[in-house]
Amino acid sequence: MNIVSKIDAWQAIRKACAGKTIGFVPTMGHLHAGHLSLCERSRRENEITVVSIFVNPTQFNQASDFDLYPRTLEQDTAILASQQVDYLLLPDAESLYPDHYQIQLTETEMSRELEGEYRPGHFNGMLTVVLKLLNLVQPARAYFGEKDYQQLLLVKKMAAALFLPVDIVPCETIRAEDGLALSSRNSRLNTEQRQKAAHFPQLLQSHQPVEHIAEQLKALGFKVDYIVEKWQRRLGAVWLDDVRLIDNISIHK
Ligand code: AMP
Repeated sequence: MNIVSKIDAWQAIRKACAGKTIGFVPTMGHLHAGHLSLCERSRRENEITVVSIFVNPTQFNQASDFDLYPRTLEQDTAILASQQVDYLLLPDAESLYPDHYQIQLTETEMSRELEGEYRPGHFNGMLTVVLKLLNLVQPARAYFGEKDYQQLLLVKKMAAALFLPVDIVPCETIRAEDGLALSSRNSRLNTEQRQKAAHFPQLLQSHQPVEHIAEQLKALGFKVDYIVEKWQRRLGAVWLDDVRLIDNISIHK
C-alpha cells in the first residue's frame, strides 16, 4: 500500500492511473469492520482502491467532539495494508483547504433537518470536504455507509446536482452482535454505557410507534435528539452522557 500525504504527489499518481477504474472510500479513521466492508466492496468492483483518512475540522460543530475524536493512524495503516488497499491518502488540513475555509458548499434543505438541525453546519462541512476529495481522487465509484443515511442522501444529491462523474454506492450498516452499529465513537463508551447502547438499535428495530421508542430510551437514561420515520427509514440520534449515537433501519414495506 502506498501512503500519500502530499496533494501534488497524489495528483501525479492519479495521472498515472488514467484508464483504470478507481474505487474510493473516504473515512475519518479509527477503522472498524464497517469501514472495511466498504473497502472490500471497492476492491471487488474496481481495479484500484483508494482510502482517505482525514478528520475534517469543518464538519464538527463542537470543538470537544473534534478534539476527542479517536485518532489511531498506526493501527489504521496496518489494517488497510492487510486489506490490500492500494493507496491511503492522508492529506493535512492546510493542504486540503488552500482557500483557508473560504469556499464552502451549501445545501439549503435536507442539510438543515434532523442531523443538520442538531449539528448546524455539519453537512456543509461534510459536503465541502467530500467534493474536494472526489475532485482529487476522481473515482468511478465512491462508497458510503447507510449508517450515516442522511449523509449518503446528501452526497448522492450533490453528485447529481453538480454532474459529478461518480457512482455513489450505498453499503449496508455493519453491526456488533448485540445490534449496535459499529462507529468510531463507540470506543468512547465505557463498559456500562456500551451495554446500555444496545437498547438503541434494539428499540429502533421494534415494531412500536416512534414516540414509544423515544419514551423508553429516555426511561433507560438516553437523551433523545430525535426518533423519526422518513425516506422509508426509521432514524434516530441519542446521547449516552457525552457520547452521541446515530442509527437508522429500513422500514420499506
Ligand atoms: P467515518 O469514518 O465515520 O466518516 O465513516 C466513513 C464511512 O464509513 C462513511 O461512509 C460511513 O457511513 C461508513 N460507515 C461508518 N460506520 C459504518 C458501519 N457500521 N457500517 C457501514 N458503514 C459504515
